[in-house]
Amino acid sequence: MSSSTSLDKALKGNPNATKVADGYLIKGDGWVFHAFEQHSAEEIEGLDHAEIFYLPFCTREEILRMRDKKKAEDHLLWLRAEAIADQPRFCRVFRSRLKNAKNWSLTNWYAKKESARDEYLNGLMRSAMQKVSPIPAGMALLKDVNAMCCKTEHGNYIAISEALEHFLYYMNLATYGETFKLDIKDQMAALVIGVRTMLGTESIDFDIDPRGTPPRLIDEAIKKLTHDQLSFTFGHEYAHHLLGHLSQGQIKKKSLSEIFYANELGKSVGSYSYKHKQEYEADFFSIKNIKSNTEYKNRLANAAFIMFSHFSVLNHALEVMAVKSQFKSDHPDPIDRIWKLRRRLNRKIGMQSEEIENLLARADQFKKILAENFIPLHFEELEMYGSHYLPSYKEKILVDRVDF
Ligand SMILES: [Zn+2]
Repeated sequence: MSSSTSLDKALKGNPNATKVADGYLIKGDGWVFHAFEQHSAEEIEGLDHAEIFYLPFCTREEILRMRDKKKAEDHLLWLRAEAIADQPRFCRVFRSRLKNAKNWSLTNWYAKKESARDEYLNGLMRSAMQKVSPIPAGMALLKDVNAMCCKTEHGNYIAISEALEHFLYYMNLATYGETFKLDIKDQMAALVIGVRTMLGTESIDFDIDPRGTPPRLIDEAIKKLTHDQLSFTFGHEYAHHLLGHLSQGQIKKKSLSEIFYANELGKSVGSYSYKHKQEYEADFFSIKNIKSNTEYKNRLANAAFIMFSHFSVLNHALEVMAVKSQFKSDHPDPIDRIWKLRRRLNRKIGMQSEEIENLLARADQFKKILAENFIPLHFEELEMYGSHYLPSYKEKILVDRVDF
């Protein structure tokens, strides 16, 4: 990775080149080109055309690992890199992530984001932990899938969508906004950002274009809940392994254009799909497999109930908008998941039925607002690619490519 000074030299005095927050915008006749950096001859030596696209955010050693793919973790690395390489916006997100990073590698960066997985693994019963901890598992910039388990010739790996994390954060904020006395405008904006994130129309560049951060105590509480929801999701995927579902599961071939934001033609991954009965089982065992720690089991159960209530709002919005969703066709009804989980869990763990009813009443309010007010009047706003903000906490709207 070279510094931008070589780019500065190359473009110095060029009247069509404007220096912006990251690199240069070069204007031509009817086109604008965004140049970030220049690679030296040594950097690209021995790499093929496609591999050069990994250079801005992968180390050379990582590029060679992806070329040979000898372990399941090399396949997860490849999935992560491929999701970024074909999407200029994600390249920019990663350029901001690698600024000031010491010992940068894509693997190191994601390793810092695995606290939800690690807390879950530490909470697992020993025998279960020993079985699942060798499975590579982590976040990637996937589109509408919430989590998936992929089969490779070197074993399986689990990938969870970064978009899911953003979806959960904003849906949690919308749901608990009233409790935290958030302005109604911000509650509604959070709901819209959540729905747009799952529709794939909200730009996944939250790192470089923050949507407005609510006061620290609220932000921290919402992040903690989101963290628990991701832990539960890792636990759900691990439970499929521990319950032996993979041997009975079907492998669905998914093209990368289905799971990425970019159109990646020709390549695909094989991911497991399960019967609905097995999904309910994985929900229950995600919590059941935790060693005796009532406090953690409580958190995971509540996180799951709240997450499923968000999925039910989302499914309703998709239905009203007549949008087909992979998520919806692969998973059982989220309300059924809530009640099946509630029935099987020890009575002392998690919200009681009455609290769940309150949670679902809130979800019904959102469904009503979306179906009756928002979607009919603002359909285009949901479908148009771009960014939404929390009005009370966003001071200045940044101009894409100029300010960030
Ligand atoms: Zn599942």
